[in-house]
Amino acid sequence: MCVPGCQEALQAALSRRGFFTGAAAAGFAATVIEPAEAAKKKPAKKAELAAGTNAPEGQSYFKGVVDLTHTMSPDFPTFFGVPGIELQKLYDFKKDGFNLNWWRIIEHAGTHLDAPLHFSENGNSVEKIVAGELVVPLAVIDVRKPAEKNPDYLVTVADVLTWEKRFKRLPDNCCVAMMSGWAPYVGNPVKFTGKDASGVFHFPGFSPELAQWLVKERKVLGIASDTLSLDHGPSKDFKTHRIWLPSGRWGLENVANLDKVPPSGATLVVGVPKVKDATGAPVRLIALI
Ligand SMILES: [Zn+2]
Repeated sequence: MCVPGCQEALQAALSRRGFFTGAAAAGFAATVIEPAEAAKKKPAKKAELAAGTNAPEGQSYFKGVVDLTHTMSPDFPTFFGVPGIELQKLYDFKKDGFNLNWWRIIEHAGTHLDAPLHFSENGNSVEKIVAGELVVPLAVIDVRKPAEKNPDYLVTVADVLTWEKRFKRLPDNCCVAMMSGWAPYVGNPVKFTGKDASGVFHFPGFSPELAQWLVKERKVLGIASDTLSLDHGPSKDFKTHRIWLPSGRWGLENVANLDKVPPSGATLVVGVPKVKDATGAPVRLIALI
């Protein structure tokens, strides 16, 4: 609960960073305030309205919540071809009165975050990424058509410029997501990984040129792909990873349901376990729309 003055301070901090505007601000506000139902019973105070932490009667902060997370299980396709998670039952309800599993997990499996440390010597590990950089505007670049023709498709600068023609410049501190149309294939590992007879993967990714351009020309905090990697399947040098992560930015892989969010205007919430020295971690990704 906010102490007196805290809401004003929070609002001031957010406007200083120019972080949240429009629908994104509405979505963010909902995460820090009491539920809208409670707000209806109690008239909002002027200061609360000014701070954007309460809404006039009948107004809600966001219309819906979309889960951008695939369910994690030992069957989920991984880069290494081994289960990304193993669950061992340590306690059983019938025998012990409660259930409890022990997990053995690969940091980079299922819908997950890549921290800068994943591809750098001294980059930030997961717990060092501040919370304010994990709640961001989401821009979805739809490349389903070219990816359908070419499974090795690389998202280009031109694809982002096409998005910008329609929705204006990428919002500051946003996450740019590639929607290649691969998410629905997740139950079919052969198609999802595209692994051929010689062991080469085939799925779309971000071009290194685009990664470089986003670092230099735009203010972007993260990139997200609906495939196994930020780089496309055949990549051997992981150039996009090598440009993006050492620059201090994060990535997301195996993202689901991007077709359920608008191309512009959603707020992405990256729920990531705060594990010390982690190079990445499975996440619960939520979009407020
Ligand atoms: Zn990863």
